[in-house]
Amino acid sequence: MAEKYIYFFGGGKADGDTHLRDLLGGKGANLAEMINMGIPVPPGFTISTKMCFTYYKNNRKLPESLHDEIKENMAKVEAVKKMKFGDPSRPLLVSVRSGAPVSMPGMMDTVLNLGLNSETVEGMSKLFKNESFVLDSYRRFIQMFGNVVMDIEHRNFESILEKIKRKKNIIFDNELQTQDLKEIVNQYLDVFKDQTGQEFPSDPYKQLELSIGAVFGSWYNKRAVTYRKLNRIPDDMGTAVNVQAMVFGNLNNNSATGVAFTRDPATGENVFYGEYLINAQGEDVVAGIRTPNPINKAQEDHTDLPSLEEEMPEIYHQLIEIYKTLERRYKEMQDLEFTIEDGKLYLLQTRTGKRTAQAALRIAVEMVSEGLKNKDEAILSLDPEQLDQLLHPMLDPSENYEVVARGLPASPGAAMGKIVFTAEEAEAAALTGVKVVLVREETSPEDIGGMDAAQGILTAKGGMTSHAAVVARGMGKCCVAGCSEIRIEGERLYFITTDKVLERGDVISLNGSTGEVIIGEVKLMTPKLSDHFAIVMGWTDKFRRLGVRANADAPKDAGQALGFGAEGIGLCRTEHMFFGDERLPLVRAMILASGDEERNRAVEKLMPFQQKDFEELFRVMDGLPVTIRLLDPPLHEFIPHEDREFEDLAQELDIPVERLKRSARGLQESNPMLGHRGCRLGITFPVIYRMQARAVFSAAVKLLKEGLTILPEVMIPLVGHVNEFVTLKALVIEEADKIIGSAGVACAYKVGTMIEIPRAALTADQIGAESQFFSFGTNDLTQMGFGLSRDDMGNFLPDYLKQGIFALDPFQVLDREGIGQLVEIGVEKGRQANPELKIGICGEHGGDAQSIDFFHNAGLDYVSCSPFRVPIARLAAARSALLEKKEAREA
Ligand code: ADP
Ligand code: MG
Ligand code: MG
Repeated sequence: MAEKYIYFFGGGKADGDTHLRDLLGGKGANLAEMINMGIPVPPGFTISTKMCFTYYKNNRKLPESLHDEIKENMAKVEAVKKMKFGDPSRPLLVSVRSGAPVSMPGMMDTVLNLGLNSETVEGMSKLFKNESFVLDSYRRFIQMFGNVVMDIEHRNFESILEKIKRKKNIIFDNELQTQDLKEIVNQYLDVFKDQTGQEFPSDPYKQLELSIGAVFGSWYNKRAVTYRKLNRIPDDMGTAVNVQAMVFGNLNNNSATGVAFTRDPATGENVFYGEYLINAQGEDVVAGIRTPNPINKAQEDHTDLPSLEEEMPEIYHQLIEIYKTLERRYKEMQDLEFTIEDGKLYLLQTRTGKRTAQAALRIAVEMVSEGLKNKDEAILSLDPEQLDQLLHPMLDPSENYEVVARGLPASPGAAMGKIVFTAEEAEAAALTGVKVVLVREETSPEDIGGMDAAQGILTAKGGMTSHAAVVARGMGKCCVAGCSEIRIEGERLYFITTDKVLERGDVISLNGSTGEVIIGEVKLMTPKLSDHFAIVMGWTDKFRRLGVRANADAPKDAGQALGFGAEGIGLCRTEHMFFGDERLPLVRAMILASGDEERNRAVEKLMPFQQKDFEELFRVMDGLPVTIRLLDPPLHEFIPHEDREFEDLAQELDIPVERLKRSARGLQESNPMLGHRGCRLGITFPVIYRMQARAVFSAAVKLLKEGLTILPEVMIPLVGHVNEFVTLKALVIEEADKIIGSAGVACAYKVGTMIEIPRAALTADQIGAESQFFSFGTNDLTQMGFGLSRDDMGNFLPDYLKQGIFALDPFQVLDREGIGQLVEIGVEKGRQANPELKIGICGEHGGDAQSIDFFHNAGLDYVSCSPFRVPIARLAAARSALLEKKEAREA
């Protein structure tokens, strides 16, 4: 039997359901599921994602066998609708809709009202007794087909529409009269012919074939490719195509089209929320052609327009019932698309709604307390990376600032930057590091690159469900939408109510949480975290197996990390304590000393500073482990570069300047990252490591005597050979025991090593036998494992990513296949030699959710990351533990 490519839905039952998402795409799978749930959905069929690649392999043509399968399924749609595709007396019209397994809102193309031609237009006008509605549908069809299939730019059609509206003194499309529409249709057909050199295809099956092909083809259009790249969606998924009987929101004033969220996507509040337009079709609501009406009476953002609740109370209540059913079914906030045809409601789409991080947390917590889902499911519904948004700055409400305009608070947070009016400019500015705010009439899918590059987005048109609002929320980007108090003319931005004018390059600020637009800069502050945040974080601690520590050197950062729930410090970089006006000269003297005696003198003077730093840090971290890494970077990082600096230093140290310069030259290396750094410094200059060890233990002992609990862990960096570690461990222990012994207190300390040189991972059994803990330094491990210099890769890594040679930047997301093996070998060999070995990771990857999942599975004890990523790590670790549990259950 031939392979099944098409899945029918309609008449109360469907071939597919929500589990067939990979095959039917999100849209197709959910249409099928809704049909099976008894929700009113127009009938149709889904051509599976498998056909997407068959289409490409077949030179962008649909295979012959598919045509028969299409006809069979069309017959089923015809039977349900009691109409016939292409039949002039009762013409069935369909839409052709893309739908990938992962939601890509507005990224690919849709054609509506397919099946119209001069004959069916006439037949349909009689059937519906409404000629202008049919002509309205026809002009939309010609434009969408022209654009999607033949790549004719929308403006070719829109300029005609605008001209006729101006001539007739009409503002909105739905005020066009039959005669106007006839003229528009004729001119559109001419545009089609002018642009393509062909007549508009009148055969409905030809229209269908071309449209299906174009939707499959849109998988690789520029904006879809960009969107996938931004959202890390793989290219090999493909899209499905849905062919569905049309229902008409543009039939009359008893018809409408709308979109709704089952909860507020900005705050998460449990209110049904949405917008609709009477006598409209398709994405009219999202495109912002007219200001849409609210669904609820209580919706605050537009007060003067009548709501669905008031205008069509029965439909409103039916919609409420449906949304509740859908939430119960999917256990997720849903984003719905619906159409009302002459007083009858149809659902056209449901999917998990995009929301802000703040909303996601509130929804998770409230759905658990409503009994919709359990805590496991709530945690698994959250995206760890999204929490990053919450930690972003917002406008300080205590500041006095002048608000020049107000729009809709479409996506919270704050933005400040220079005005640009195009997405290209925004992208160009981002490349040079200039912060910009993108100001547009409205945005479209072509703009996503620029939206991503901008600090924030301000639009003049469109509602809370406009493209700008939805995309910005998904990106966690501040957005003020539908600001009717601004007007954009060329490169100028006019504020209507205040008579102010700004130009391209002037600075504005946006408050996405209130919709305020402000001229100039405003002070920013870190936001307060909600109770929902605290509740969810509490849950994560119950589920996760991985510990979460922070990388922090200063007491302030350590305090921050504690506030976010860190359970210790996984990396204190002591070299950060070597800067500062009083210390740097001493450090330089230590480095540039011409003999042991001179060096010892400088080291002795440095010691009190180090001790004080450790005391402060230990005090904050009372009761929790603190991992202190001994000096790591190449010494030349500390030496002066300018003549002036040399002269000052020479004077301060009372040493001839030439001698200083000579010593400095002696430190030059051609490959410093592989040179005299890390434990190699400890081997040649043991006084430095001894001093650091004494500072650590003197500080510890002092606080222990005060009754604090101090758990120091001294970490030797850049070990590649066990002998390096053995030598330096002996040195640390000698200093530690001397100090602890003479103080007469008990101090439980550890000595361990970083695993950051591939050879250390490969010989982890030898090193593990000597060491109490390992901490994977995955930055250096990646650098050395890949032979990829982090300081030099800026010249070539972008090409690697663009050409897809690397899917991801290996310094952001751990390369599991390669560097991951080094980690696994290190863990396995280390534990074999020493079952008590504690193992953590302190590279940048410690704060990356995908990498954390790997570390969980590799059996590490903890991850350590920057303080602001601690909540992300806690959530990611909990998710990994829950996923493991789930997989075990399913296996
Ligand atoms: P997107 O993936 O961009 O959301 P859709 O396939 O959902 O695109 O189509 C966009 C809009 O077109 C829908 O929200 C709906 O309003 C309209 N639409 C699609 N199919 C139909 C149909 N069969 N009848 C009426 N309207 C439709
Ligand atoms: Mg669309
Ligand atoms: Mg849609």
